[in-house]
Amino acid sequence: MNATSKPIVCRLFLCLASAVALPMLFAGEAGVADTTASPFARVRIVGLDEVQWTRGFWADRFDLCRTQMVPQMDALMSGTNYTQFYQNFRIAAGLDKGRYRGAQFNDGDFYKFLEAAAATLAVTNDARVVKKLDEVIDVIARAQRADGYLHTPVLVRQRNGDTNAAPFQDRNNFEMYNLGHLMTAACVHYRVTGRTNFLAVACKAADFLYATFHDAAPEVARSSVCPSHYMGVVELYRVTGNPRYLELARRFFALRDGIKDGGDDNQDRLPFAEQTEAEGHAVRANYLYAGAADLFMETGDTNLWQPLGPIWTNVVTKKMYITGGCGALYDGASPDGAKEQKTITRVHQAYGRNYQLPNTTAYSETCANIGNVLWNWRMFLATGEARFMDVVELALYNSVLSGGSLDGTNFFYTNPLRVTDPLPVELRWSRTRVPFVSSFCCPPNLLRTIAESAGYAYGKSNDAVWVNLYGGSTLATELPGGQKLTLAQETDYPWNGRVRITIKECGGGEFALNLRIPGWAGGASVRINNQPADSSPVSASYFKIRRVWHPGDVVDLDLPMPPRLMAANPLVEEDANQVAVQRGPVVYCLESPDLPHDLRLTDVVIPVNLHLTARYDRRLLGGVVVLEGQAFAQPAGDWTGKLYREFQPANLKPFKVRFIPYSVWANRGPSEMSVWLPLATVEN
Ligand SMILES: [Zn+2]
Repeated sequence: MNATSKPIVCRLFLCLASAVALPMLFAGEAGVADTTASPFARVRIVGLDEVQWTRGFWADRFDLCRTQMVPQMDALMSGTNYTQFYQNFRIAAGLDKGRYRGAQFNDGDFYKFLEAAAATLAVTNDARVVKKLDEVIDVIARAQRADGYLHTPVLVRQRNGDTNAAPFQDRNNFEMYNLGHLMTAACVHYRVTGRTNFLAVACKAADFLYATFHDAAPEVARSSVCPSHYMGVVELYRVTGNPRYLELARRFFALRDGIKDGGDDNQDRLPFAEQTEAEGHAVRANYLYAGAADLFMETGDTNLWQPLGPIWTNVVTKKMYITGGCGALYDGASPDGAKEQKTITRVHQAYGRNYQLPNTTAYSETCANIGNVLWNWRMFLATGEARFMDVVELALYNSVLSGGSLDGTNFFYTNPLRVTDPLPVELRWSRTRVPFVSSFCCPPNLLRTIAESAGYAYGKSNDAVWVNLYGGSTLATELPGGQKLTLAQETDYPWNGRVRITIKECGGGEFALNLRIPGWAGGASVRINNQPADSSPVSASYFKIRRVWHPGDVVDLDLPMPPRLMAANPLVEEDANQVAVQRGPVVYCLESPDLPHDLRLTDVVIPVNLHLTARYDRRLLGGVVVLEGQAFAQPAGDWTGKLYREFQPANLKPFKVRFIPYSVWANRGPSEMSVWLPLATVEN
C-alpha cells in the first residue's frame, strides 16, 4: 500500500469470507495509536504511508530493519532451530504434528514480527511480503478455534488430546499478551495493506474475549499479565468503530480494579485510580500506562488520566535511567518497607525504589524501554506537550536502539549501564548481545519499533503539523482542516542539530509548523526564508510558526549540541560523585576498546573541567560522532581479598579519552563499558 492507494472502506458494513462481520471500518491513518477520531486526543498521527525516512540516521536503521532484520527474523521464527513460533501455529492448525515448544508468550512475539513486516509495506509495497503474510495469516486463522480463542500452547495440547487444556488456567500463560499483540498487528496490517484477513482473526478473538469477560470469574480477571491487550483492543475499536471493543477495554480496567489479592509486580495491588508511583514489572507497568492513555483518549475518563501524571513524574524524576531505560531490578520486593509484612510481594524485572538505579545490575529490558516510548507517545498525542516527546526521543536513541547490534542480528534482553570484567555478581542474562534468548520478547519488539519509527516523526492537528523527531524525511499529508501539505526535512541529526524543512506543496491557507525544541536544547534558533524568527524558541516546548506558507518556503532550525557532563540527583547512590556524557539526545559511554591497552575501565577518572570535542568518524561503528578529550588514569591498585582499605591517593596520568554513543557499545567483541564515570579526586 502506498500513499496513493490508502484503504477507503469507511463506514460500510463488510461481510468477510471468514463470516466475521467487521462493522464500520474507518479509513484512519496507516499506523499505530490512530487518534484520527479520538475525542480526547490533541494530536493525530500521520500514516506510515505518508511519511518516509529519506537519508541519514533513521533511514539507515529502517533500511537495515527492512533488508536484514525482518528477513532474518522470518528465518528464525519460521524455523525450529532455537524454539518454535510459526510451527506452533501450523501444529495448532492441524497442518503438522508435534508438541508445543517455546515460551508461553511466543505467539505474541510472532505477531510483533508480523507487525514489523506489515509496517515495512507502507514504504515498499512488496507483493512478495504481502503474499507471504497472507499465507501465514491463513495458517493463524486455521489455528483459531471456532469461538475465536487463539493461543497455541493450549490449542496444541487440545489437538493432541489433552482434555485438561483450557483457556485462562494460569495467568502466566500470557494469553492476554498474545491476543493484544494479535490485535495491534492486525490493525497495522489492515491499515497498511487494506486487507481484512488478519483483522478478521483479531475481531474474532476480541469477540471471544467480549463473551468470556462478560461475567468473568476473579481468576480469569487476573489474566492481564504483560497487558498489551489494552492498547490492542482500543486500536481494534479505532479501526472497526465497534463500540463493543471500547466496552471491552473499559471492562478490562474495571476487572483489574476488582482484584483483591494482587501485587505490585502486576500493578494490581491497588485500583488503578489510587496508584501514584510506578511499581513492579516495568514492561507490564509501561504497557498498562500506555493502555490507560489510549482508553482515556477515547473516553475522557479522568480515573484513567489522573494517575498517569503522578506516575509519569515518579518515573522521570526518580526511577528512569539517563538512557530512558526502565526497570532497575532483576528481582525485588514491593511495597518496600510496608507496615504489614504480609502485603510485601515479590517483583521481578521491575521498577525499584525511588532513586534506586544500579548500573551493573540494571534490568532496563528493551521491551520496557519500548514500553516507555509507547506510553510517552500516547501522553504526547493526548496533550501535545513536548516533555513526553523528549522521553520518546531519549529512549529511542539510547536504551531502545542499544537492544540490537549494528548488523541487526544480535540482541540484548537487558541494557546495563556498566559492565566490568569480572562482574561483581552472577547475572541471569547475557552481558553480550546474542542471536536468541529463551525470552525472545525484545527482538521482534525492536523490529516493529524501527519499522514504525517514521510514524513518530510527525503529528498533525486541525491547522498544524507537528515535527517531533528530526531526521531526513518527507511528509505528504492532509491536515484535518483540509490543507494538503508536502514537506521535506534534511538533517544529519542526531550528529548535529541543524535541520532544514522545505515546504514542497501546500494549499493557500494558514497553518502552523510546530517544531519540537528538546529539553536539552539551549540557545536554539529558527530562521524562516533566511530571516530570523520573531521570537526565540524555548526548550522543552513546541515552537509554533503560524503563517500562510508557500511552496519553496524554507525553515532552518539550529539546535546547538555541545557535549554536556551530566550529574545524577545525589540520592542516586550508584551515581554519586560520577558524571555521564550526553550530546543532544545521545547518551555516551566509555568502552574498553577505546582505552589504551594498559588501562582498565575502573582506572579512569574524569576531570571536572573535561573538555570534549565532537568528531564524526564515518568508519567507526557505522558512522558515529565520537567525543574526545583528556581524562586521567588513576590505577585502582590491588583490591584482591579486600572490601575496605585505607584510602591511597594515586598519581593522575593524563590520556586521550574517547566516548562513543551508548547504543552502539558491544559491537567490537567482549568489552567493558560504563556510562557513569568517577570524578577525579583533587588535593587542596
Ligand atoms: Zn522483552
